[in-house]
Amino acid sequence: MPKGIYQIPYPDNEPINSYEPGSPELKSLLAKYDEMYNQSPIDVPMYIGGKEVRTNNKMPMSPPHDHAKVLGHFNYGDASHVQDAIDAALKAKKDWSDLPWEHRASIFIKAADLLAGPFRDKMNAATMLAQSKNVFQSEIDAACELIDFLKFNVHYMQEIYSTQPDSQDGVWNRLEYRPLEGFVFAISPFNFTAIAANLPASAAMMGNTVVWKPAESQMYSAQVIMELFKEAGLPDGVINMVTVDGPVAGDVVFKHKDFAGLHFTGSTGVFQHLWKEIGNNIGNYRSYPRIVGETGGKDFIMVHPSARPKQVSTAISRGAFEFQGQKCSAASRAYIPASMWEEVKGYVIEDVKSFKMGSPADTSNFITAVIDKRAFDKIAGYLDFIKEQKDAEIIVGGNYDDSKGYFIEPTVVVTSNPHFRTMEEEIFGPVMTVYVYEDDMFLETMQILNETSPYALTGSILSQDRYAIDLACKTLQDTAGNFYINDKPTGAVVNQQPFGGARGSGTNDKAGSQWNLIRWVSPRTIKETFVTPTNYRYPFLG
Ligand code: NAD
Repeated sequence: MPKGIYQIPYPDNEPINSYEPGSPELKSLLAKYDEMYNQSPIDVPMYIGGKEVRTNNKMPMSPPHDHAKVLGHFNYGDASHVQDAIDAALKAKKDWSDLPWEHRASIFIKAADLLAGPFRDKMNAATMLAQSKNVFQSEIDAACELIDFLKFNVHYMQEIYSTQPDSQDGVWNRLEYRPLEGFVFAISPFNFTAIAANLPASAAMMGNTVVWKPAESQMYSAQVIMELFKEAGLPDGVINMVTVDGPVAGDVVFKHKDFAGLHFTGSTGVFQHLWKEIGNNIGNYRSYPRIVGETGGKDFIMVHPSARPKQVSTAISRGAFEFQGQKCSAASRAYIPASMWEEVKGYVIEDVKSFKMGSPADTSNFITAVIDKRAFDKIAGYLDFIKEQKDAEIIVGGNYDDSKGYFIEPTVVVTSNPHFRTMEEEIFGPVMTVYVYEDDMFLETMQILNETSPYALTGSILSQDRYAIDLACKTLQDTAGNFYINDKPTGAVVNQQPFGGARGSGTNDKAGSQWNLIRWVSPRTIKETFVTPTNYRYPFLG
């Protein structure tokens, strides 16, 4: 047991490499990208109890911007592998949860330092190849955000452990932050390497063991995450990675009596389905499972007539189109006053026409490909639908081409209908829909915004008028878990803007904060009495 009240090294946000043309860090990253692109096809295993598990069912992995290229395969498992992963997690549980917390802390701080150093290029290049992120989008996700998650979560763990109750004379009260009884199931989305690693790591850090199912389209970078944890000294069986069909995994996990918690990030529909599955099995569990889910968004930019047009257009260009709009926080609807629209429209069209689109290996490309054929077809379907409607018009973009990669032109739509389909539904692609309102309808337009979609993830107000900002803060109180004033609604930074939404957007347990970590423990209150009573009679009995 620890023989000291240790203080972990105080964390700071990881500085972001700018990757300017000609810089040594860009040369080094592109060399790693080339090396990984050209290496012999790799064979990504499952990791169960520290063993690499392979099957005969090999699934190809290709870069979304270059789908004819096969980078390698991953091994597709079945229900038996899920059962093996649960067994491995339960077997590893006692040793892991008994390990003094400072050793758990060390492993994850070490993982962060390895990622900041020797693993940085590899994790970034894998993310460029697997998810088609440009160098900057990879850097802020796979390197910086993940380093921040790992370091700050260790800091929050220490804060949680230090949060202790009051004790009166003769008594010492303590809170012991036990891990959950059983195992945690982490299911991650394709779009952030940092989220993929953080979902299993945050629960593991608090002493839990985990079965992790990454998204199939993120397997190439998922493997690098497992290599990183292994190198940092994470013991076998603490995080077990399985690559199986979601419903197959769910069928085994949600029927298991030791299922103790779900850490999910992905779409709202899938999360609601999983919650129902858990509900259907609620009588079978040892404990009530923790259910944490961060899900979809229909994120907005609300513009007051006092806003600066160039600031509005830049918020749209960056907020809607970086990483092809495949961020849960990406702006996808904007409400713009009529007096400003012509000017904003001109700037936005100019910006969008200046975007270059192509492979992330060419760093002059701002836009790369969307994740896969399914996403491409879905987004293309929306564009075809818009083209046929009378109450909406595409003012820039609208084309798509999947001959080499899954490329969709960044698209801006203007609608006269504030309830137009693309004002309400999450598309998860580079499509921004604008509703132009009469200047004197600012409040009424915000009321429409508030009632327009089931989501409440991110949103922003742009205004130079402080009364308008205050009105927006009040009127839009429940429309966003992350609300931005005079900024785009994307780019949350760990320890600066804890992230999560409400309504249909999730349980709002704020990734990158102690509110998330607290979900992975079940506190035990211990009261110790120093002079124990020996007579039952209270004074009032005389
Ligand atoms: P998705 O819902 O399609 O998949 C997420 C994960 O769930 C994947 O691993 C998938 O294989 C798995 N899955 C799907 N069906 C399943 C089932 N029946 N049982 C078990 N697992 C199942 O989402 P995606 O396309 O990977 O990611 C995009 C979505 O994620 C968007 O809706 C986006 O808004 C959301 N997202 C939200 C946040 C947030 O913090 N709120 C962050 C990132 C992404």
